[in-house]
Amino acid sequence: MRRLHRPICPNPEALKSNYKHPDNKGALLRASHGKCMYCESQVSHVYFGDVEHIRPKAANMYPELEFEWSNLGYCCARCNNAKKDQFDAVCPLVDPYSEDPSMHLIAFGSSVRHKTGSERGANTIATIDLNRAELIEKRAIRLSQLQNALDACYRTVNGNVRATLLAALNEEGDADKEFSMFAAALIDANRPTTAN
Ligand SMILES: [Zn+2]
Repeated sequence: MRRLHRPICPNPEALKSNYKHPDNKGALLRASHGKCMYCESQVSHVYFGDVEHIRPKAANMYPELEFEWSNLGYCCARCNNAKKDQFDAVCPLVDPYSEDPSMHLIAFGSSVRHKTGSERGANTIATIDLNRAELIEKRAIRLSQLQNALDACYRTVNGNVRATLLAALNEEGDADKEFSMFAAALIDANRPTTAN
């Protein structure tokens, strides 16, 4: 999970009666680069994704927030299904639109772990099932590809060429890339301390 910036609601009139109006859903999709706000899977390449109610709109939860822009996000069907109507106001799920997830969650290999002492991080991982087998597998493939590319970089003898390749690879940790939290952690862990 990476920090996201909530866009301005492009069509507030439509939002009053339709929380998933294409204008507004499109803005949420672009704000997360087409990725799920929770698991960072690239959603928009496969289907149009779901509009997520961060605080569930269920009758016994937060029905008054069904059309509240600050309560909406963009997520994948798998995370949406895992979360269902779960939300603990005492230990709320990490909300990447309003806070920096790295305060609660860290990438450790192909798993996401909560920061020591962060009950909210632990609750978020458990509730949304952020270490489900499918995600572990996809992250591992992504990290293996990145590791191979890093190896190729460091084998490049010419220092200028190597620096150019590394700069390009650093972009693999940018927020618009799938599973960027994990890619960025691998890149950081491999940063050279001395030139060789
Ligand atoms: Zn997801």
